Amino acid sequence: MTTSIEPVADDLLGLFPPDARVEDDGTLIIGGCRLDDVAEEFGTPAIVVDSGALARRARDYLAAFRSRWPRADVAFASKSFPCTAVQRVMVANGLHLDVAGGGEILGALKAGADPAALVVHGKAKSDEEIAMALDHGVGLVVVDNFDDIDRLESAARRAAAPQPCLVRVIPGVAASTHASQATGHTGSKFGLSPEQAREAIARIDRSPVLRLDGLHTHVGSQLLDVDELAAAVAPIAALGTFDTYDLGGGLGVRYTYGEHAPDLDAYADALVDRARELLPAGCRIIVEPGRSMVAAAACTLYRVTTVKRGTVTHVAVDGGMGDNLEVSLTGQRFEAAIATRFGPGGEPVTVVGRHCESGDQLIDRICLPGPAVGDLLAVPVTGAYCYTMSNQYNGARRVPVVFVEDGVARLVVRRDTWADLLARDVDP
Ligand SMILES: *Cc1c(COP(=O)(O)O)cnc(C)c1O
Repeated sequence: MTTSIEPVADDLLGLFPPDARVEDDGTLIIGGCRLDDVAEEFGTPAIVVDSGALARRARDYLAAFRSRWPRADVAFASKSFPCTAVQRVMVANGLHLDVAGGGEILGALKAGADPAALVVHGKAKSDEEIAMALDHGVGLVVVDNFDDIDRLESAARRAAAPQPCLVRVIPGVAASTHASQATGHTGSKFGLSPEQAREAIARIDRSPVLRLDGLHTHVGSQLLDVDELAAAVAPIAALGTFDTYDLGGGLGVRYTYGEHAPDLDAYADALVDRARELLPAGCRIIVEPGRSMVAAAACTLYRVTTVKRGTVTHVAVDGGMGDNLEVSLTGQRFEAAIATRFGPGGEPVTVVGRHCESGDQLIDRICLPGPAVGDLLAVPVTGAYCYTMSNQYNGARRVPVVFVEDGVARLVVRRDTWADLLARDVDP
């Protein structure tokens, strides 16, 4: 057994939402709710969100930036947890929403977002999606490419007023993150090079139906070095003076006991210090956090289905890559605890999922205390991109989302029914 897989006792709770605690009988409590009760009522697997912690995080994010830069807005990146109840928490706490594509526009509107507070992204926006965005009067459309400008111009001709937009600029920052999470390196598929951006700016400036509010940039995701995030400011500052600079998202979070992530103050300081140096005073700054807004407010509950002891002890649970693709897509490491025997130590095991792939491994080597069939496993920090990419692989019913707060647990997204799995078949 290596020390790297031995959790630090004092730190066990640290990965769960801030006011998580352990009952005398060893059961983990989140949002005032015992997790065994939550599993009993809603089944497993399930994503459990401390909605109080989520709301506090939204307020803290906004305060961190507004206190340093009065014209700051925080636009939650909807794609990190695209469910109406989560968007509602964001909207209720004064956040704007980042949306990519028609489905996320509709979700944001259903959550009660003011269309003017929507920032519309998309690598390959369709005519239909651009029409939806403009028909609903969205606040900003982010231009990724020259074809976006053509499409926007033809759609905006029907509009009463010019459509505000931003030009997305590749900052040329090679971030220290998984290749699939880097978006700001030279040659990225997202946005335009500074050279191309100048041409896009000139085209939009000439357009009678578009209004250029400013520039956008986004370095990548799960970045643990705030200097890399702040490095995005200089390349867009160099392109001229505008009203709005959208600095993207990307702040990383702590997933494992040994990891450290920058706190909000360090992040806001790094960005705003660069902004004071390089951006026009009084301009508007937008940040677009996804992962660092939602990841730590949630955990996923699984039931242990089988334990197979051998060269490696495989603890298999009733979920896996159907509800957490982060492990397969980015190699993200997670930790876990038995929710009713919460404590450090135990035997080294590998936690695997139920899907028919060897890659469906939730956690390679972790210590769990005497895992047995029927145990409830809690995997923390699953609020970001897990629900997003939940799927029906192997006929899995997609996971429900449960909000817990002040001792009350309520279902906000139901589990797929068996009928849902066949609902789109049109061949009788
Ligand atoms: C995904 C994305 C974000 C959010 O990134 P996180 O790493 O989740 O904070 C923000 N802006 C854009 C344009 C994105 O594509």
